Amino acid sequence: MKQSKLFLPTLREVPAEAEIASHQLMVRAGLMRQLVSGVYTYLPLGLRVLRKVQEIVREEMDRAGAQEISMPAIQPAELWQETGRWDAYGPELMRLKDRHHRDFVLGPTHEEVVTSLVRDNLNTYKKLPINLYQIQTKYRDEVRPRFGVIRSREFIMKDAYSFDVSREGLDKSYQSMYDAYTRIFTRAGLTFRAVEADAGAIGGKGTHEFMALSEIGEDTIAYCTSCDYAANLEKAEVVYKPVAERTVTEAPMEKVPTPGVKTIEQLMNHFNMEARQFIKALVFKADDRFVVALVRGDHELNDVKLKNLVDANVLAMATEEEMKKLGIPLGFVGPFHLPEGVEVYADLAVQDMGSAVAGANEKDYHYTHVVPGRDFTVQAYADLRNIVEGDECSRCGGHIAFARGIEVGHVFKLGTRYSEKMGAKFLDENGKEQPMIMGCYGIGISRMVAACVEQNHDENGIIWPWSLAPYHIHVVPVNVKNEEQKQLAESIYEMLGRAGYEVLLDDRPERAGVKFKDADLIGLPIRVTVGGKASEGIVECKVRKTGESQDVHVDELLAHIQHFATSLQ
Ligand code: ATP
Ligand code: MG
Repeated sequence: MKQSKLFLPTLREVPAEAEIASHQLMVRAGLMRQLVSGVYTYLPLGLRVLRKVQEIVREEMDRAGAQEISMPAIQPAELWQETGRWDAYGPELMRLKDRHHRDFVLGPTHEEVVTSLVRDNLNTYKKLPINLYQIQTKYRDEVRPRFGVIRSREFIMKDAYSFDVSREGLDKSYQSMYDAYTRIFTRAGLTFRAVEADAGAIGGKGTHEFMALSEIGEDTIAYCTSCDYAANLEKAEVVYKPVAERTVTEAPMEKVPTPGVKTIEQLMNHFNMEARQFIKALVFKADDRFVVALVRGDHELNDVKLKNLVDANVLAMATEEEMKKLGIPLGFVGPFHLPEGVEVYADLAVQDMGSAVAGANEKDYHYTHVVPGRDFTVQAYADLRNIVEGDECSRCGGHIAFARGIEVGHVFKLGTRYSEKMGAKFLDENGKEQPMIMGCYGIGISRMVAACVEQNHDENGIIWPWSLAPYHIHVVPVNVKNEEQKQLAESIYEMLGRAGYEVLLDDRPERAGVKFKDADLIGLPIRVTVGGKASEGIVECKVRKTGESQDVHVDELLAHIQHFATSLQ
């Protein structure tokens, strides 16, 4: 491709709305432009990268035996009502009406559509297992679209759905997708880690997230420094070891005035005590009931663990208004005198406290000398807190450390959640009807591109890995007005193209400085600069990643590039 003809608007300035490197660079290097918050146009260069990702994904999905289909983005509300997600999905679901006032959604995911498709067209064990996938545009009205295409409202996803006759079959389908994902992210040059994630109501080891490791990642990964255990923070299990000897105060509980003292920090100052001596209490609405959760003051409540414990579909912090109605004053919440029906759950560590300070459920008052078990009871003690660095690994006893990650893929055992609700059944060998056992597997195609840029850049621009690079080689004549340079650059461009490389020729009549800046910004793996030594047939060959450069005679250029290419792949 000749750059003079290419729609490649590069920018020197950092776009104001772009907070992170990948977002800035994807705009500056002319890969994409924003249309409206969280909605992007891909320009020619960006589209080439997207296609490279899609090709890798396609090859590996096909290799794993999945079959490609293409389902509509537009989906009738009735399907979502069948599974109950019309109500449960909430405001992230993009809803619209047709001219007959019928409700539709713009698909954020396709469990409903694919389950109805298989239900209506496949009903015998003889045709199972089957795995159907697509690469398609998804819509989610994210509360906070940000980081460019990492969290956008319109994005490209690869979604696959497996249908099996048994749990063992599902385990196999799942493993085969897990392996395919490992190959995909490896081929895309990502540094990643598969981590156990929360499976919600389904429980068990039913789901893994594939995390591209990055400081800007929105997820915290808890991993063991000794074994290969890694889990999303929301899932990471805390090892509970009861204290050997609990020292319990003999003093009775005492109500003390604490005007305006609400937060743990304020309490620490007020009482001159450590955070671990307080009981932190939080009020949640779990579907249509209220629950109070207790953790030690130095711990953080894990609301996913709480949601699973109380088996809620939707769990949210109680609003100020709800608290008012319950008669619980914000900042002074405790496990005492709660209204009828409000359940109390506590983290396991709370039961070891021998003399704690807790809210009195009365404005401006706390209780001191509180002894769990003696002064209040709970519905249950359970693992309800976030793991912290240095905690014990639940697998091997080693130590937990944290890293941050961008979720690029997700594999999930669904079981019969959708097939039962939607009546997707098959006849087994004995002619008996059984619900299909499903799995679903997503990859954020557009998010992967951003994750790749996030992991591969320097202060000058992007450093594309060979497999995703929009072009492999950038041929840059320093001065196109110099006939020798121009001719040589063109013949190199032709030669490399014939050899099967994807080549971009910067034939623009721009200053050398501008061209080099753009070349670094765009970040193709190899740059061939045709300059002053063109008359001798000598050019400079430079590797973007290492900065390594060498003068090479054109006759040896191909061999040289082959050598570089192999080392970069
Ligand atoms: P997240 O927790 O980041 O919102 P999710 O759990 O909602 O992700 P899934 O429903 O599992 O995501 O979707 C499959 C994949 O699609 C994710 O692993 C991610 O790579 C990608 N993805 C999800 N939401 C977005 C988005 N708003 N923008 C870009 N990619 C997304
Ligand atoms: Mg999401």
